[in-house]
Amino acid sequence: MKALLYMGPKQLDYQDVPDAVPQEGEELVCVSHVGICGSDMHAYLGHDERRPAPLILGHEAAGFIQGGENDGKRVAINPLVSCLKCSVCLSGRENLCAKRQIISMFPREGAFAELVAIPRNNLVFIPDHVSLTKAALTEPIACGWHASRMVQESLDNSITKPSALILGGGAIGVGAALSIKAQGVQNVTLLETNPVRRDYLARIREINVIGLNELTDNIMFDIVIDGVGFAGTREVATKYVLPGGVIAHIGLGDNEGGLDIRRMTLQEITFIGTYTYTQKDFNQTAIAIFDDRLGELNWVEKRSLSEGAQAFKDIYEGQCSAPKIILQPEILP
Ligand SMILES: [Zn+2]
Ligand SMILES: [Zn+2]
Repeated sequence: MKALLYMGPKQLDYQDVPDAVPQEGEELVCVSHVGICGSDMHAYLGHDERRPAPLILGHEAAGFIQGGENDGKRVAINPLVSCLKCSVCLSGRENLCAKRQIISMFPREGAFAELVAIPRNNLVFIPDHVSLTKAALTEPIACGWHASRMVQESLDNSITKPSALILGGGAIGVGAALSIKAQGVQNVTLLETNPVRRDYLARIREINVIGLNELTDNIMFDIVIDGVGFAGTREVATKYVLPGGVIAHIGLGDNEGGLDIRRMTLQEITFIGTYTYTQKDFNQTAIAIFDDRLGELNWVEKRSLSEGAQAFKDIYEGQCSAPKIILQPEILP
């Protein structure tokens, strides 16, 4: 099969590799669409020891099952492979399983390839009316769906009309904004500092997108979701969250700084770390996409997998206005 192979920092080669081989309980999926994630970028730059070269990256995928009784069925892939047996998994938090694996992270090869092997339990069937482009967005949006759900569970339920500020107009931030709106929060504002990205995001009718200069000291929010995760965004989060409010932190930008712990203590602000999604969140996100509850999802740019190396370079150099680039392998006959 053809694959985009990560060979070392800033080096991706489109080349022939041995076909993916499904193990017991797994399906072989012919990949049709696969998004580039911030974590793929992190690996591409050589900053992720869990993703040593040579490795096939990519975990935001959709495609067709190849072979077996479900041959040809269209699916979205949940890339998180958990044991499903430990107490953490049985409590419904498979995303925290100690034995957790993810495709594109050693030892599982990822989906920047014509074929990927994945446990049958990790597949969600896609109805005919839903495009595989939208299906490939299930994974990045599920991260925001999960964070939004955790926020709802923590927020004081006497707040009848909560307001939410989302930090960052990448796919994580956009997915979180659309998710929290679909979950019933009407007043959603997304902060994006890059004017080119901001112009692009104007096409998403569901969300109000602002720049930093539009954030004023007299407007505060019940909920802040940080989809970036740097000291600078955490500082904004703690400054603009209302007393008794909730901050959900999704981004993995840097590890320290930004939080005003004194203010958070005196104002009883809840801080939630959130990572990926549970199986239930993933499935609920897929259903929200099927039911058109997350808008048109027209904020992607599509390119060929064979030109994937250039796409990574463009993202690294800040040349992309779309929050998500989706790569497409040539579909096998
Ligand atoms: Zn991702
Ligand atoms: Zn487990």
